[in-house]
Amino acid sequence: MLGLDVRSVILIAGTMSLLMAVVLFFLRRNYPPTIRGLREWAAAPVILFLATLLFGARGAIPDFFSIVIGNLFLLSGLALLYFGSQRFLGFKPSVGLWTGVIILALAPLFWFSLVEPHYGARIGITSSLLATMSFAHAWVILRHAPRTFSTYFTASALLSLALAQTLRFRSAFGLSAHTVSLDNFLPEQTAYITVYTLAMLTTTIGTVLMATDRLRGELEHLATHDSLTGAFNRRALIEACELELSRCRRSRGSMALLMIDLDHFKTINDTHGHPVGDRVLIDFVARVKSLLRQPDRLGRFGGEEFVALLPEPALDEARVVAERLRATIESSAGELPPCTVSIGITVSRPDDAGLDEIISRADAALYQAKRAGRNRVELVVQRPQ
Ligand code: GH3
Ligand code: MG
Ligand code: MG
Repeated sequence: MLGLDVRSVILIAGTMSLLMAVVLFFLRRNYPPTIRGLREWAAAPVILFLATLLFGARGAIPDFFSIVIGNLFLLSGLALLYFGSQRFLGFKPSVGLWTGVIILALAPLFWFSLVEPHYGARIGITSSLLATMSFAHAWVILRHAPRTFSTYFTASALLSLALAQTLRFRSAFGLSAHTVSLDNFLPEQTAYITVYTLAMLTTTIGTVLMATDRLRGELEHLATHDSLTGAFNRRALIEACELELSRCRRSRGSMALLMIDLDHFKTINDTHGHPVGDRVLIDFVARVKSLLRQPDRLGRFGGEEFVALLPEPALDEARVVAERLRATIESSAGELPPCTVSIGITVSRPDDAGLDEIISRADAALYQAKRAGRNRVELVVQRPQ
């Protein structure tokens, strides 16, 4: 068995968790409020550290503090960590349930610590609760967090924590009634506690990784999407078009571009106000997105002008999609002022010099649609002479 001194293990892991709490507090201050759960994640290691101090002071302070309050802090710290994950994943934390469970557990803990001390019974109560909570926590993360390294990292830490506690629970049946002092702990108890404290530290590191992942995702989204409508922004759409164009060149395929412009949009703004104009744009994007297929991309090119990229359609197919978009926008306005769109279509040609040439053709087609009276679809496939 490892010759570990359980007191040192507890203290070192506790101190490391405390450092992670500092990291999480800073993250909370600097990260956007859209990333929730950081407050609970940051507070949990502090409470867990207080628990380790109380456990470490066993013998020097009354058992009530070191055992009953120590376990109360341990259970509360782990519960807080769990609440943080629930909030991070957009759920309401199950505070009522776990507070109730912890309060209920306190009575037998008190009994088996001070009234009729029984070491095995005490270990049985805390380890079964910690195992259940850690399994529930790991389950929520595995089910609802994105499938990334940080998710698996955190979930594995929680599962090892749960496993260590399950083994400890099983071992509790063989334990005597008498409390063992921290200095002559049974080797397997030391092993469980070591695994447990390290897993707790790893879980805290996992939460930092998950928060960072989320932030990266949000920044990526901000950098590639239009903040009003949620469509791709111009840069992201051009990037997608360039990528698609090089794929077309390799596979000798083609792609279609639909240049879509809302008709007389200035009049909508002038008549109903800018905020209503904004809502028309948001609604427009939502409806277009619902009509496009998975590989299609919709981007806001500027103002009330949008571009849809359709990979690999036949020309007729692109025309059908465009006509369907035009008819949908014309038909249902709901409570918003009615509006129509003009659409210019083009498809890529093997002799195109680059993306600019394709975009100018779509632009020319849109111009034709506007000139021909708006609320219509026009097509340009020939290169200009
Ligand atoms: P046309 O049929 O020729 O396209 O006429 P139009 O009025 O749609 O075109 P114009 O280019 O004259 O006007 C575009 C208007 O779109 C002017 C601008 O204020 C408005 N606009 C651009 N971006 C936004 C936005 O984010 N929100 C709102 N509400 N209006 C916007
Ligand atoms: Mg317009
Ligand atoms: Mg315009």
